[in-house]
Amino acid sequence: MSIADNINNLKKETGGIGVTLIAVSKTKPAADLMEAYDAGQRLFGENMVQELVEKQETLPKDIQWHLIGHLQTNKVKYIAPFIAMIQSVDSLKLLQEINKHALKNNRTIDCLLQIYIADEDTKYGLGFDEAIELLRNPEYAELKNIRIRGLMGIATNTDNEKQIKEEYYELKTFFDGIKTSFFRKEESFDTVSMGMSADYQLAIEQGSNMVRLGSTIFGTRVIKHWKNNTN
Ligand SMILES: *Cc1c(COP(=O)(O)O)cnc(C)c1O
Repeated sequence: MSIADNINNLKKETGGIGVTLIAVSKTKPAADLMEAYDAGQRLFGENMVQELVEKQETLPKDIQWHLIGHLQTNKVKYIAPFIAMIQSVDSLKLLQEINKHALKNNRTIDCLLQIYIADEDTKYGLGFDEAIELLRNPEYAELKNIRIRGLMGIATNTDNEKQIKEEYYELKTFFDGIKTSFFRKEESFDTVSMGMSADYQLAIEQGSNMVRLGSTIFGTRVIKHWKNNTN
């Protein structure tokens, strides 16, 4: 099936139930993104700042770019002018840096807190306690140019469906608690970003309303520089 077919099928599957589809286009060439774009896709996720910036410069300006990979504080300035959402916020220091550059650009940047739910030590993210600590910190309350829209998590890379379900259940339960404790009056705290190609159906069952799909849309990734990547 073509990229356009994949987009159309996934839109049918997710659109009707209020799940937002992020097309994860990392390592993929601009032509692939344009095929998704021409099928109506406007939300794209990338994990490397330089690749994201280069794609943003050349591709249509109505694309909404989501950063889904680890962000170093010294790179915030490159994406602050245009980024639609930073899904991978994992420290107060990073949030403060995003706020600083959002202010310079006279805008508010939507963010998700990335929560560590996997049983692996290779993944970035805040522990449940660390997320609560961040939200209780008076320095967080001073940040006026960022808006936390919800939480993001990556489940363990395993075939064990029970484990994946439990991890996503925990994240959704944590989201509900955080919403009640810290964002009761803020309708904009509404996003539970969980689910990748291998596990998005499980994630949706557990209450995800944003899925980040790469290989399901664009095919498997071969590790090559995106500019030379002709599949
Ligand atoms: C690469 C990536 C995805 C998409 O992965 P697929 O398995 O190709 O769907 C989703 N989320 C994050 C954070 C990623 O880095």
